[in-house]
Amino acid sequence: MKWDYTCKYCGIDTKKGKDNFYGVTEELWNQYGVGEGMLCLGCFKKRLGREFTKEDFVPCVLNYFVNPIVKDIINPTEEERKSLWKKNN
Ligand SMILES: [Zn+2]
Repeated sequence: MKWDYTCKYCGIDTKKGKDNFYGVTEELWNQYGVGEGMLCLGCFKKRLGREFTKEDFVPCVLNYFVNPIVKDIINPTEEERKSLWKKNN
């Protein structure tokens, strides 16, 4: 089966662009996510019902380097970036 990248909520294609690639904590996803499905960042925020904070996102390459919106929210420090690389290598 092909992985479905459409947002379960608004139906946009989440693999277009980089804004909808992100990783939130398991706790948040269990509460506001859609299980195995995808949610665009905008819809996730709507379900969350508040502004994102740095703590909502897990340290991963997507959040720190790929997604410009999330990167802005997290604004990872040099140290955080380094520890992420260490973890991945
Ligand atoms: Zn959506």
